[in-house]
Amino acid sequence: MEQNLIEQIRQANDIVEVIQDYLPLKHVGSNWRGLCPFHNDTSPSLYVSQPKQIYKCFACGKAGNVFGFVQDHEKLSFMEAVKKLAQRAGIAIPEYEKTKTVSTRREQLLLTYKSAAEFFAESLFAHGKNVLDYLAKRSFSAATAKELQLGYALNSEKALLNHLLKEGLPVALLKDSGLFGNYSGNLVDQFRDRLMFPIHNSFGEVIAFGGRLLEEKPGVGKYINSPGTELYTKGKELYGLHKTKYNISKAGSAIVCEGYFDFLRLFESGFTNAVASLGTALTEDQITLLKRFTEHGVMLYDGDAAGIKAAVRGGLLCLSRGMEVSVGILPAGEDPDSLILNQGKDAMQQLLDSAPDLIHFLAGDPRPEQKTAERIDLLLDALRSLKDPVKRELLVKDISEAFSISQNALNSKLHRSSSPVQTTPVAEPVTLRRSENTEERDLLILSLKDYDAYKLLASELNQSYFSNRLYRNLYNYLTEQSLSAEDFNPSALLDHIENNEIKESLAELLFEDGQHMRFEDCLSGIRIRKIQRDLEELDRAIVKDPNNLELLKQKEKLAHSYRRMTRKVVNKVLF
Ligand SMILES: [Zn+2]
Repeated sequence: MEQNLIEQIRQANDIVEVIQDYLPLKHVGSNWRGLCPFHNDTSPSLYVSQPKQIYKCFACGKAGNVFGFVQDHEKLSFMEAVKKLAQRAGIAIPEYEKTKTVSTRREQLLLTYKSAAEFFAESLFAHGKNVLDYLAKRSFSAATAKELQLGYALNSEKALLNHLLKEGLPVALLKDSGLFGNYSGNLVDQFRDRLMFPIHNSFGEVIAFGGRLLEEKPGVGKYINSPGTELYTKGKELYGLHKTKYNISKAGSAIVCEGYFDFLRLFESGFTNAVASLGTALTEDQITLLKRFTEHGVMLYDGDAAGIKAAVRGGLLCLSRGMEVSVGILPAGEDPDSLILNQGKDAMQQLLDSAPDLIHFLAGDPRPEQKTAERIDLLLDALRSLKDPVKRELLVKDISEAFSISQNALNSKLHRSSSPVQTTPVAEPVTLRRSENTEERDLLILSLKDYDAYKLLASELNQSYFSNRLYRNLYNYLTEQSLSAEDFNPSALLDHIENNEIKESLAELLFEDGQHMRFEDCLSGIRIRKIQRDLEELDRAIVKDPNNLELLKQKEKLAHSYRRMTRKVVNKVLF
């Protein structure tokens, strides 16, 4: 893609606004700050500079510009991120650029799933009368089917295969797509005569499918799912989130249900802040995803023992990740779908409104086999992994009230970590140590501010002047780039760096203002340090070979320039 098109896209996407599409930021001092999405962050460690259009996490080290953020957050290639942001800003990318950019395997897979979803959706209305009848019988409207892009996989071995081949997708790719089985060396459609649920990521891209049989057949699974691919990992996505994320943010709460039809019913009945976990237990990854949009979840699960167990397990995990959780348990024998069908929307609304928080739910747990002490233990276990001490203390207070147990007793048990606690290791700060190599660091900071200084960096020094490995690598990287004056903006500098260590430390240096430093001072400082190191090395060589006149001559020369240089520096400081 042409550089000025990329520049145009960069300028149309302010980094603070883009990051705020994903998480809230607060204006603090000259920067914006928020909770880093790349590690389990408890104090806002993510810094965003609006003037420089870069971000940096000072806990886990992640750093980059607006493209890099979208790239890392969505696991995209650079070009995919550029395209996504072009779309966000309404900038059209010329057709020839588009075809050129469908290059990575991931992009090709996405295209495959997109085409498949479109094909299934078209087939539903063209050939899927039986499916539409089935949906109508279960009181789902065609509008809902359309809105959620439901589809129909034809009862054929080659329908999807032929369609995708006609679209020009390579056979090798289709083989790995998970959409086809292998029947004595030939590809055959995996999904046949099924109602198809496309599974989207939170951005609305189709990344997997679930297919449901319309009539039970002996020996054939009621549901089959496409397998994990580069696009899709089971237990990482939430079904329906791409449709409901804005309503979830707006409502300040998400309804978490279990299956496709529960979600469909809730959605169609106007409960548009729901997601389905697709599987009984909510996973940590799903909670991390949900937490991007809300701090509050209502677990809406079946009223049987398995449902309650799943609701409590998911709820505890949410609690340990700092979310607030309520538990809406359905009357025995009902699921969200049947409750709304049998008793109406109002009954569902009432159930949601009166859902107790997890602690009060456990205090009044209807399961007789669950002992009070065990229920308290479950809560204390969750609290031990909760990083925020204030939230922890508030919850101890709640537990104390709900169970009528003193806070003292709870606290002493809480800190007597009885059961082994699983905690994710806290990311070690990877900031560069400031006390050492200040000239090397400062010199790089200054040469990133000023193009003339940058040019001097290359002409006046070489890598041997840098004693710190990281700064030496940075020096090499920067000078090898032979940047032009136009390249010289902090955000653009971070575009194409493959090496994470270089990218992260470069971003850190870009965050510095360097106002109190002078380039010349740093330069002389670095030269003096270099001579010092060379002198030490010579001394070591002379100890080994004391009669070598050549070495002694070299030492005399070096010592002379050392004295000259230090004198100059001293003079400068004194006068
Ligand atoms: Zn981080």
